[in-house]
Amino acid sequence: IEQMCAKRQRPNLLITGTPGVGKTTFCEALASRSGLQHVEVSKLVREKRLYREWDDELDCSIFDEEMVQDALEPLLERGGCLLDFHSSSFLDENDFDLVIVLRADTSVLYDRLEKRHYPESKIKQNVEAEIFQSCLDEAQEAFEETTVSIWELQHDTEEHMEDALERAQPSPQHANCLHCS
Ligand code: ADP
Ligand code: MN
Ligand code: MN
Repeated sequence: IEQMCAKRQRPNLLITGTPGVGKTTFCEALASRSGLQHVEVSKLVREKRLYREWDDELDCSIFDEEMVQDALEPLLERGGCLLDFHSSSFLDENDFDLVIVLRADTSVLYDRLEKRHYPESKIKQNVEAEIFQSCLDEAQEAFEETTVSIWELQHDTEEHMEDALERAQPSPQHANCLHCS
């Protein structure tokens, strides 16, 4: 882990999980506590039009892996990024020091997505993805556990978020690194 840290002055973290598990909420809180830069990839995709295709059924863009990789490269090289995205298969494990997969209970997730006014089909698709732990599987395939730690953390309640934030706090021994102790 120390060796991985030496690649960058400040660590890069990936926060992943099904839409609605609370990635953005968690990242905003951790960014303000840690000084790491919150990089909301879905916003970047929208604003910089990092897509070539549109999914008519779900009415959303299909991001272009190469375009997103190119946009993220300078940020990840610099370090200190808190990357917020549901997908991880196209990322390079050497660019990250810690991966956190947030999880939510099925009914909790359903309610959150309903509040977001997602169409029924999109709610169903995301709830199924959470049940089948698609994002966790994707992260475990993309990142060798010997190279980078993967933490699976429950994120149903404020208490869960507080626990997760505490775990991800920088240690006094290595103030620039969030995972060393
Ligand atoms: P994501 O970025 O993964 O799609 P958001 O951060 O937008 O998810 O969160 C979705 C909704 O769930 C928001 O309304 C947010 O306030 C709520 N939420 C997120 N995390 C928690 C939590 N730990 N406890 C309670 N509500 C949460
Ligand atoms: Mn989000
Ligand atoms: Mn370290």
